[in-house]
Amino acid sequence: MDVELRKSRNGVLKFLLKDVTPAFANSIRRTILQGVPTMAIDEVEVEKNDSVMSDEILAHRLGQTPLVTPEGYLLPSECDCLEGRCPNCSVDLSLQVEGPSVIRGEDLDPSDPEASPVEGNSPIVRLGEGQKLEFNAIARLGFGEDHANWQPAIVSYKYMSVIDIDQDARDDWGECVESCPEDILAIKNDEMVVTDIEKCTMCEACLEACPDAIDVGEDSSQFIFRVESTGTMPPERLVSRAIEILKGKCEEFTEQMERF
Ligand SMILES: [Zn+2]
Repeated sequence: MDVELRKSRNGVLKFLLKDVTPAFANSIRRTILQGVPTMAIDEVEVEKNDSVMSDEILAHRLGQTPLVTPEGYLLPSECDCLEGRCPNCSVDLSLQVEGPSVIRGEDLDPSDPEASPVEGNSPIVRLGEGQKLEFNAIARLGFGEDHANWQPAIVSYKYMSVIDIDQDARDDWGECVESCPEDILAIKNDEMVVTDIEKCTMCEACLEACPDAIDVGEDSSQFIFRVESTGTMPPERLVSRAIEILKGKCEEFTEQMERF
């Protein structure tokens, strides 16, 4: 197995994973999406809501507001309080405002400043003149497999493309080169070459333009991963946590097998 970093910028991590099976690559993808605990608003106690938005829709919007996941919190199921309602396993985010106003993420007052909304500027609800909104939202750790509120990222991968070129099939490569929307085909020393195979989207436009000379396939042992975090934690940490979780499950499995 080999991992090569391609890009890490603005919450997006791109890397190449080589010499693994599709099942292994997918287990990493699914663990990031579903198995890494993150902080999200799970419950909203509405005291007063004069806005045009119903309590249910307001709670839904709050749940979908990504929060930064601080270190050190317990899952409600692991906490001694048993209710998910103590400072070890929950964060309160309260609000008390009278309009006119546009309520944004930054208006929520978290009991732990480290669990603030990722995007302070994102609007949640608009209040008209004299309208009041009062609530206490409770954020807890949870898993993407239970609700999308806790899904920490968008994770995708594609197989590495393989473009076979029969250099003897043609003398004129013009239409083949021009057919590629990603502009990754070029002519070098009278031969057609691929300049950046990782940019290939498998659209097969080159295959349609030059079926006599080109064959497009994929390498199912190499994967180009793209992890775009909601901002709840850096994408590098998401991947590391997912690997730790997978490793922990494998170790647990081994321990149980050894008891037989
Ligand atoms: Zn607790």
